[in-house]
Amino acid sequence: MQYRDRGVVLRTFKLGEADRIITIVTSEHGKVRAVAKGSRRTRSKLAGHIEPLRHVDLQLYRGRGELDIVTGAVTLDRWPTLRCDLDRLGTAMTLAEAVDQSVHDRGDDPVPYQMLTGALRRLDQSHSEMLLPAFLLRLLAHEGTAPMLEGCVVGTGCEDAPIVAFDPAQGGVTCEVHRRGRQLSGGALEMLRLITEGRVNAVLDLEPSSDTHEVAAVVTRMWEYHMEKRLRSADLLG
Ligand SMILES: [Zn+2]
Repeated sequence: MQYRDRGVVLRTFKLGEADRIITIVTSEHGKVRAVAKGSRRTRSKLAGHIEPLRHVDLQLYRGRGELDIVTGAVTLDRWPTLRCDLDRLGTAMTLAEAVDQSVHDRGDDPVPYQMLTGALRRLDQSHSEMLLPAFLLRLLAHEGTAPMLEGCVVGTGCEDAPIVAFDPAQGGVTCEVHRRGRQLSGGALEMLRLITEGRVNAVLDLEPSSDTHEVAAVVTRMWEYHMEKRLRSADLLG
């Protein structure tokens, strides 16, 4: 089956003398792994289009094997500014890695592709410390694992106690009485709420502070917790 789709190259591996295996998150076919034959030869028509983070319009062939075959590629965006800045490049590679970890092969969910192209476009224009945590939190929420931020996840009858901590294992915030997990300031809690309510722009423009660092730490911990749990359940199934 021949098909055409847009995607972002998440990573590439060398294969043999001249080929690459690529992982792409696509608009209509979820995460796809494919062979780009001859793409390491300078005269190949694929050369110059197949590299991590490249936004491409692809022609692909799907046979019976696990890997599809790239038969054509045209660059849509190469994010020139982002590539010249090591901080932004590092953030962009982490976004791609997160999408690779969380998106299933050959699904049909367009949202991770849309989120990633949106984040790369933004990152190409300006850098924000909050872009990565906001992205991870929204991706978790999209997968149905949004944290509970409204009230204490542990107890009942503690509605009046202030929220003081965040516990990834419980999936949300905890109050002064049931304090568990990592300490959380009021400012950081407010930022987490803004992101999960979709008001990301209000957070992206904030100057770095102890609150923004706290949000980054909490979200990273939450991400690791969920990914680890998923990897372990994959082991059990395997
Ligand atoms: Zn409580």
